[in-house]
Amino acid sequence: CGIVGYIGTKAATDVLVDGLRKLEYRGYDSAGISIFEDSKIQVVKAKGRLDNLENKITSLGKPLGTVGIGHTRWATHGEPSDVNSHPHGNERVTIVHNGIIENYLQLKEKLVEKGYKFLSETDTEVVAVLLDYYYNGNPVETISTVIKNLKGSYALGIMFQDCQDKIFAVRKDSPLIVGIGEGENFIASDIPAILKYTRSYYLLEENEIAVIEKDKIDIVDTDGDPIQKEIFTATWDI
Ligand code: GLU
Repeated sequence: CGIVGYIGTKAATDVLVDGLRKLEYRGYDSAGISIFEDSKIQVVKAKGRLDNLENKITSLGKPLGTVGIGHTRWATHGEPSDVNSHPHGNERVTIVHNGIIENYLQLKEKLVEKGYKFLSETDTEVVAVLLDYYYNGNPVETISTVIKNLKGSYALGIMFQDCQDKIFAVRKDSPLIVGIGEGENFIASDIPAILKYTRSYYLLEENEIAVIEKDKIDIVDTDGDPIQKEIFTATWDI
């Protein structure tokens, strides 16, 4: 039910867990993070409170990577459990998702026919597997193709293992903002998650794809064409 993403120079784990705490008011039953660490995707996820996730992170050894995505889940498809928690994906792609993929069963059937195995009962894992299936080395093209296959609502944070200087985001019928920092950038479901770091942000509109680096944000349409976006300034107090 909450998404936070970070790319910059700080330890992403700290920024993500801190941001997820700011989104606790939205409610959740489990939480998780993916971080680029030693050029791999490292995933830690746990059912229950954020404290459970933090304890697991500590016991496994905190990742020090500076790029990552985090999630608090409010289960809609698949019971709250470690394995159903987000992020979902494999060694090549990792995602967090808020919303509901209405046609996930049809998509899952097709992917199973193609030989894919599923680990969780979530609707979300279908999106991760589709991204893997369609990945052609061009993340924006791949994300465009995948979202054209989806029915339902989604805010997605996405990372590809072979693209470690970027995180990606896209949304439809679920909120997502892109926070603009200095030498660091963010994605978040809501402003409180990033207020400690920046007050500037873009509002991502339906099916706009955000390509986020630490010093640069590009927002493009599903053809890859750039979109000029207005910068908003949060006037809220923390
Ligand atoms: N439908 C997804 C799930 O059940 C995402 C739920 C959410 O928005 O947290 O895993």
